[in-house]
Amino acid sequence: MDYNIGVIRGDGIGPEIVGEAVKVLDAVSSKYGFGLKYTEIDMGGCSIDKHGVPLTDEAIAAAKASDAVLMGSIGGDAKTSPWYKLEPSKRPEAGLLGIRKALNLFANLRPSTLYKELKAACPLSEATADKGFDIMMVRELTGGLYFGERYTKEIDGLQTAVDTLSYNESEIRRAAVKAFDIAGKRDKKVTLVDKANVLDSSRLWRSVTQEVAKDYPDVTFETMLVDNCAMQLVKDPSQFDVVLTENMFGDILSDEAAMITGSIGMLPSASLNDTKFGLYEPSGGSAPDIAGQNIANPIATILSAAMMLRYSLDQDKAADAIGEAVKRTLADGVRTRDIMSEGCECVSTSGMGDAIVERL
Ligand code: NAD
Repeated sequence: MDYNIGVIRGDGIGPEIVGEAVKVLDAVSSKYGFGLKYTEIDMGGCSIDKHGVPLTDEAIAAAKASDAVLMGSIGGDAKTSPWYKLEPSKRPEAGLLGIRKALNLFANLRPSTLYKELKAACPLSEATADKGFDIMMVRELTGGLYFGERYTKEIDGLQTAVDTLSYNESEIRRAAVKAFDIAGKRDKKVTLVDKANVLDSSRLWRSVTQEVAKDYPDVTFETMLVDNCAMQLVKDPSQFDVVLTENMFGDILSDEAAMITGSIGMLPSASLNDTKFGLYEPSGGSAPDIAGQNIANPIATILSAAMMLRYSLDQDKAADAIGEAVKRTLADGVRTRDIMSEGCECVSTSGMGDAIVERL
């Protein structure tokens, strides 16, 4: 069996971390007897430099022709990069929003897991870290504030900026169904996070999700206000299983959930549509501050590749093998700089890729 994988190396640390994920994919695919063909796709800042725009029609077509897309990260330093002198719709991030929309990637999955080997890096209290946590954030990705009508104009002599937060019931329902399906295979609990005491859109999220919950009697359903959720994530993250939320709340909370694990360099993500197709990428950004130094942590991208094997290619055994190899590497005390602790061996980006391949 051969699969066609689109590869977006992207900007900053993107090419370095994707290189290691491809190394691991090559090793695992030859071990488990399937083939991977890679198609390089330009997106983000490197696409601006080559083609003048962050996302071309050819890039979208190549992504659509793939079974799945593995991506590094895009974007540069907003203060120094010339990309940020362009108008917002021509900047690197517009490419990401564009590809999500073009591929109809409406559900973003971000697992936030505390590895027992990395407990010391968890910024929460020792008692909280000891309890551990394993959260799956399901964030709606193609609606809400980031896609609503927006403008800035003078109204009554004052510069006024308007952003619109809008959702229809079908956008909410399909995200909720994904969350309940995933919860059914995990600890069977969905927490809908919203601001239903203020926002109409949140009240619609509540009523539609409550309807969906009726089809999943074995899954516990609860709701939580977003401000409370921000607090509960640092107070007792072990209470959460699947957290379902709209686009902007999910953007913020998934970074918070990432941070409490101790390193954003550890966390993978998947963006899915209604088919088997998905876009797989690390949760972190392009980390321009450490780009080109061979010190970035590639584990999030390697685990993203494992998610790709599981959700898009149905190669569960190969995906499990990568997960196990990562755990063994950590248990053996191999670390990149961001997760380094006393008594461990500090390795480079490529050193971490090699260590994981050795343990496959
Ligand atoms: P960032 O995630 O790139 O960096 C935040 C901090 O985390 C930095 O100190 C960085 O060195 C560190 N970090 C991130 N990934 C790491 C890794 N794999 N290993 C070790 N350390 C790591 O966030 P930022 O600085 O806010 O954004 C930088 C650029 O990335 C911006 O242009 C932003 O728009 C872009 N961005 C892209 C994506 C994406 O491609 N999906 C996501 C978030 C941010």
